[in-house]
Amino acid sequence: MPSAAKQSDLPKVKISPRGATRLKEGHVWVYRSDIVSADNSPPGALVTVTDQRGKPLGTALYSSSSQIAIRLISHDLVTDFPTLVRQRIADAIAYREQVVRDTNAHRVIFSEADFLPGLIVDRYNDILSLQVLVQAMDANPVREIVISELAQRLSPATIVERVDPRVRELESLPPRMSGPLQGDKTATTFTMNGVQFHYDALEGQKTGAFLDQRENYAAAAQYAHGEALDVFCYQGGFALHLAPHCSQVTGVDSSRPALEVADRNAALNGRDVEWIEANAFDLLKDYAASKREYDIIVLDPPAFAKTRRDLDSAMRGYKELNLRALKMLRSGGTLVTCSCSYHVDQSSFLAMLADAALDARRTLRLIEVRGQAKDHPTLLNVPETAYLKCLIATVT
Ligand code: SAH
Repeated sequence: MPSAAKQSDLPKVKISPRGATRLKEGHVWVYRSDIVSADNSPPGALVTVTDQRGKPLGTALYSSSSQIAIRLISHDLVTDFPTLVRQRIADAIAYREQVVRDTNAHRVIFSEADFLPGLIVDRYNDILSLQVLVQAMDANPVREIVISELAQRLSPATIVERVDPRVRELESLPPRMSGPLQGDKTATTFTMNGVQFHYDALEGQKTGAFLDQRENYAAAAQYAHGEALDVFCYQGGFALHLAPHCSQVTGVDSSRPALEVADRNAALNGRDVEWIEANAFDLLKDYAASKREYDIIVLDPPAFAKTRRDLDSAMRGYKELNLRALKMLRSGGTLVTCSCSYHVDQSSFLAMLADAALDARRTLRLIEVRGQAKDHPTLLNVPETAYLKCLIATVT
């Protein structure tokens, strides 16, 4: 039971009226510019957040270094953080048991969206990949508790840590190497929707596969027929889901290492896919000019708008890609178009597509408006947790 006496042991962080309003509106972050005083809170401390008059607003994880100084973990008083972490890990696992189907790879813990700010855990069959993004989750005993709880509940062969050196620097955390924390198996295969993939914990551009697209792969496969083009294909996620339904599949990416894995993935599934190493913008321009045609095109570029300032050029980039793809689709064909830029909201993305359709003189029928797979839940009042958009439309 939380007790008022114990609560007073926690350092207090006083926040401005603007910060308090943000929390009252359901967000969980308070920026450093809204911190009035931090009571000498140590890095990564569990703190009581108060308004300017000293009224408690909840319990939070404090970062001494990040621009996001406060991440609220409860509106109540929390004194036993380790027990809360254990409970939330159990809840996150139970939620996945309810909503995740047809895969042995999924996100097990999604940071704020699982009320465990700064912690991301992905499962690839028998390997768990863990990322720690904030001071409080990096500190013991929490780190040890996370690892032991995951090991106990999921019995993985290995738990590996993926380190983003830039994140540790921003959080003023000492450098660490990526690598196994427990067990030594670092490569495996996993299955999504009946399609198999290789996973190597020590390689890949992020935590491995783009698990957030898992349900969109299955959705795209429903409309697949004839000739398919998967642009920004990475290790072949969409291409390999389309392949069983198509006469010909081409995947395009600028990363040779990604395409090498894509090719091994194709072999694993006994599929014949053409992989092309190219800049997608150049390739689409050439292919559109030479009047190539497809029955389904997938566009899944990297986040063009990393910050709000990139928004205009990002929208131009999305429009160019979509315009060219629309020109190459046969009548009755399908466009699957994605954006993983948080700064591009769904309505701007839809407006961009409508605009591209007008310029391409094509009529688009929107069939599905999709987002992240259910193992990447979004908090309605924390818009940053919703970033992926995936639109499926047919063209006439
Ligand atoms: N569709 C993939 C994920 C794509 S991630 C999946 O479902 O797994 C974005 C990909 O775009 C990365 O693989 C990256 O190598 C590639 N990329 C980035 N810029 C590119 C460019 N200009 N041309 C082609 N590929 C590019």
